[in-house]
Amino acid sequence: MKRIAILGAAESGIGTAILAQKEGWDVFVSDMGSIKDKYKQQLEAHHIRWEEGGHTESLILQADEVVKSPGIPDTAPIVRKLIQQGTPILSELEFAQPYSRGKVIAITGSNGKTTTTTLIYYIMQQWGVDVGLAGNIGRSFALQVAEGDHDWYVLEISSFQLDNMYAFHPHVAVLMNITPDHLDRYDFEMQHYVDSKMRIVQNMTKDDLFIYWKGDACVQHETEKRKGGYIAPATTPSSRPAVPGNPQICAFEDTDFEQLSLDFSLMGQHNKRNALAAYMATKRAGAPEEVVRQSLRTFPGVEHRLERVAEKGGVLFINDSKATNVDACYVALQAMERPTILIVGGRDKGNDYSTLFDLIREKCVGLVYLGADNKKLHDSFDQLGLPVSDTHSMEDCVQACIQMARPSDTVLLSPCCASFDLFKNMEDRGEQFKALVHAYNI
Ligand code: ADP
Repeated sequence: MKRIAILGAAESGIGTAILAQKEGWDVFVSDMGSIKDKYKQQLEAHHIRWEEGGHTESLILQADEVVKSPGIPDTAPIVRKLIQQGTPILSELEFAQPYSRGKVIAITGSNGKTTTTTLIYYIMQQWGVDVGLAGNIGRSFALQVAEGDHDWYVLEISSFQLDNMYAFHPHVAVLMNITPDHLDRYDFEMQHYVDSKMRIVQNMTKDDLFIYWKGDACVQHETEKRKGGYIAPATTPSSRPAVPGNPQICAFEDTDFEQLSLDFSLMGQHNKRNALAAYMATKRAGAPEEVVRQSLRTFPGVEHRLERVAEKGGVLFINDSKATNVDACYVALQAMERPTILIVGGRDKGNDYSTLFDLIREKCVGLVYLGADNKKLHDSFDQLGLPVSDTHSMEDCVQACIQMARPSDTVLLSPCCASFDLFKNMEDRGEQFKALVHAYNI
């Protein structure tokens, strides 16, 4: 019996364990931290061996294959040892795909993954096909494969997952954009991060479709480089050579939106790009034109992404808590049509705010800083000469916005930063914002 060890017992790890056991593997699950009760119950119900609070090396090092949670870096001691002895380390998606009959639409990029993935899934559902939503979102792909499988999957894929994908094969792939992010996991080398994202095409064949936005110079350049076949960089000894394949390419431009006379429910130029990518992907899958167009009109959007919260006293409040980097805030500001008070701040990932200055001058009438330490924000933005307020809790922040705003202004929470200095996560930050906005009477 072949042995598999699974590192990390959360959504993807548990799904992998259940699928692997069903497929006849000898399974062992190991987590450095503590495992949530609901996952322990699933493991127990399937009689799968597990441990928490550490890794029993002898059991892990004797595995034939290892599936690792994308959150565990290659620098973790146990991963180093596995790499050293040449044990294949795979991502959940890589492991599960051979057991699935489903065709895959895969979405990656630095920004816009969740919106585009959710939109494609929504269109496929409206069309009425048997489709699953997975990857970085929802229930694990492996679990869905184990529990009966689907004809189609729409998968949101991060660069961390791509790092451990060698034979994974999407039938349609969307690459939204590549801008600097997570560089701490890539030796602070942008090209390593770029190579990781481009792994999405490494096994695509001439029967598949690769969709990207032509306006992203990096993606355009990398695609040109790879025309004629692409060999994956051997980042770990377990990597297998990729099949050079030449997928068909659909490179869309912003003007295609008007050319196609599309109508989309969400605001902003970037969302038009997301809509175009979804249009191309679902049309390729076979969805009827009218279903796609109608779904674009009715898509309800995704929470915490340019989400309209309320209009109070003529002031429109928008929650874009998911904007955890400068590029995401940039596109949000571009979408603003009224004088804007921008809420910015949190845990800074080495941000360079200067790219926002022109847009802030054009769109903003005030800035509210929201963070445990706002010094860098003062140093960066005070020079713009706008009214500024300094706050350290969501309550004070919303209060400050209300004092600053005039009727017909917009208050935009699009913080450019991670949320962990004051909040549990970005969802918590967005939910607190929404609750306080709803609670106020202006
Ligand atoms: P991801 O899953 O890649 O983080 P989301 O769809 O959750 O992407 O959006 C994250 C943030 O990025 C949002 O704040 C949104 O305003 C911005 N964004 C969404 N789509 C795009 C795009 N196509 N290009 C640039 N930024 C985008």
